[in-house]
Amino acid sequence: MIDIANINIYFISFVLMISLFILLYRDYLYQQKLIKSENKYRTLIENIKQSYFFYRHNEKGVFTYVSNSVYDILGYQTSEFLVHYNTYLTDNPINKLVTTYSDNAIAGINQSPYKLEIYHENGSKYWLEVTETAKFNKNGDFISVDGIAKDITADIRVDNLIENSQTILFYWEAKKNWPVSYVSKNISIFGYSDQDFLSGKIIFSSIIHPDDVKDVTQEVECFTEEYIDMFAQVYRIFDSDGNVRWIDDRTSIERNANGEAIFYLGTILDITEQKKAEIQLIHQAKHDELTNLPNRTLLLDRIQNSIQKCKNSNSIFGVIVIDFDRFKEVNDSMGHNFGDKIIIEASRRFNSCMGNIDTLSRLGGDEFVILTDKIEELSIVIDIIQKLTMVMERPFIINEQQVYITLSIGISIYPEDGNTAGTLLKNSDAAMFKAKDDGRNTYRFYAKEMTTKALEHIVMETNIRKGLEEEEFVLHYQPQVDGITGKLVGVEALVRWKHPVMGLISPHKFIPLAETTGLIIHLDRWVMKTAMIQMVKWYELGFNAGTLALNLSIQQLEEDDFLPMLDNLIETTGIKQEWIELEITESQIMKNPKEAIEILTEISKRGIELAIDDFGTGYSSLSYLKSLPINKLKIDQSFIKDIPKDKDDMAITKSIISLSKNLNLSIIAEGVETLAQKDFLIKNGCKYIQGYIYAKPMESIDIENLWLKHQ
Ligand code: C2E
Ligand code: CA
Ligand code: CA
Repeated sequence: MIDIANINIYFISFVLMISLFILLYRDYLYQQKLIKSENKYRTLIENIKQSYFFYRHNEKGVFTYVSNSVYDILGYQTSEFLVHYNTYLTDNPINKLVTTYSDNAIAGINQSPYKLEIYHENGSKYWLEVTETAKFNKNGDFISVDGIAKDITADIRVDNLIENSQTILFYWEAKKNWPVSYVSKNISIFGYSDQDFLSGKIIFSSIIHPDDVKDVTQEVECFTEEYIDMFAQVYRIFDSDGNVRWIDDRTSIERNANGEAIFYLGTILDITEQKKAEIQLIHQAKHDELTNLPNRTLLLDRIQNSIQKCKNSNSIFGVIVIDFDRFKEVNDSMGHNFGDKIIIEASRRFNSCMGNIDTLSRLGGDEFVILTDKIEELSIVIDIIQKLTMVMERPFIINEQQVYITLSIGISIYPEDGNTAGTLLKNSDAAMFKAKDDGRNTYRFYAKEMTTKALEHIVMETNIRKGLEEEEFVLHYQPQVDGITGKLVGVEALVRWKHPVMGLISPHKFIPLAETTGLIIHLDRWVMKTAMIQMVKWYELGFNAGTLALNLSIQQLEEDDFLPMLDNLIETTGIKQEWIELEITESQIMKNPKEAIEILTEISKRGIELAIDDFGTGYSSLSYLKSLPINKLKIDQSFIKDIPKDKDDMAITKSIISLSKNLNLSIIAEGVETLAQKDFLIKNGCKYIQGYIYAKPMESIDIENLWLKHQ
């Protein structure tokens, strides 16, 4: 008897083979090995026409009948087969069970078909699947065992072929989706068993690499919905040990007349090794052999990506070409081996100068390129250049020989200096040659103004530090005057830099830089201390200079030790709290209003006056103003400048004055240069005046002389 389950198995294996055949035809390139066996499959499939023979034997196993088709299947004449049947069985251990099965049949026990291996007349081994039932007469006496033998050689060979091949086959019904209905045992190459999948313990989609899940899902969706019959995707999965493996998944779909999917038949090939080799090859094609850094090809790709990234934002990025100065001489005198070692060491040093996402690449020879990540500010590029110069200050020591190398650097900036990878690289190269022309050991931006700006920047930063150490900073003081009485009410301390070479430098040039580098904290502390000492000295001389206005950066106030430092300065210099006034700009307060309020409150508690500098230029709301513990507003000079020409400025000035009255704050105007301005201010209620109309900021000695003159 052949039961329904068996028919299903036959059907599935039949479908498997037919579909496999179709697969092979469809995709020649896919698996050369399988293509070679195409003919084998064709023969197998043709042989699969249902081939049975029938037989009968007695309880002793003596054959009494066999159908003629035994000749078609095994090549024996019926007479031969009846006599010699026993000698045809192979020595396959599976055949040892044959007697047991027969005994079972005789005993009337229902059993599944069993397999045996038998020699064909031509000597090759064949597989039979045998189903036996015993016949009994009415009295229950045994008559015979009737058997039906099916030639399953083709199935077994295909099974073996599949299991032994590199290709993993799987099959699942569209209705069920998961788990799969069949997966070949060689799925074990990934450390899983077929049962893991058949039982649903492991769902295939769960072992797909997370980076590939999206791609695969998308493909599968197209494949199921869009009448595409073949799914072909290379992606990564995890084997049972968690290692990444690359697979080539080819799945075909069978649809019914309505186009609905009935089942999927797929093959998976482990292409990890191949892929690794491929990745290695791609890597080699895109990297420099000596340093393993990205080469020109990859660099151009990356620049292109950066362009894409920055296109729709305000971001910029830099392409920095670095070339060694006189490297040829080093190579010629020390040998190429020596030169190579320098190149490797230099690439390490360069690496330490840049951010994680920046790309360092070698174009060949002694030419390197740094591509910065997208940046908001040019100062990041300048930082890199500075670091590059610094790391080259140390000599290269190779085989106990010392060599100093300097760099010529050229920079282009996207989008200003080009909007294709090629142009940017060409332009930074041109800038690098300009640096060489200008005497080497220097850098040039492609755009000339930038070079000047950056040069200033770099020189400044290193010099501020030095200037602080060498006491190159000086304080000027600008009088603040009661415009009605003409009496001095205070002085504002304004810092200047007496650079030994560049002369007197305006704070506009170095304060912003001192702020970005944090040097402002040291600078302002120096200013505070110096001015306080000066004030005390003046008072001791009998000169009442009024209040001392100090400009403080908000960074200073946010320092943890600011208050103790302030207290300490007051104590050591002997200045009185009420002589001090701190000026903070409106925009700085608004950067972090909550914190500012806290710290300003603490300062105010000490009896120190607080003024908002540059008032009117920021965005402080009335509610914030009310909550700030301030005493004074300082009208920004930009509103004063065009009085009486500009009616808007006059209106604003008036309203700031009335705001101060409403908030009960004192008010002062700065940048007052003309009589008209002074008169306008006094008329509208602002009597305190600071500006060139009275005096420019001047050295302490000049302030003293001014005082003596008025005595
Ligand atoms: P500021 O606090 O607004 O200082 C007033 C500026 O206006 C000073 O420029 C002063 O020289 C200038 N000025 C005064 N009267 C007139 C006038 O009648 N007409 C014109 N056109 N200008 C006048 P300075 O000294 O160049 O300072 C610039 C800025 O640098 C200051 O602006 C202040 O924000 C900052 N600064 C100066 N010294 C320090 C300091 O010690 N620490 C900090 N953190 N910042 C300082
Ligand atoms: Ca000020
Ligand atoms: Ca100001």
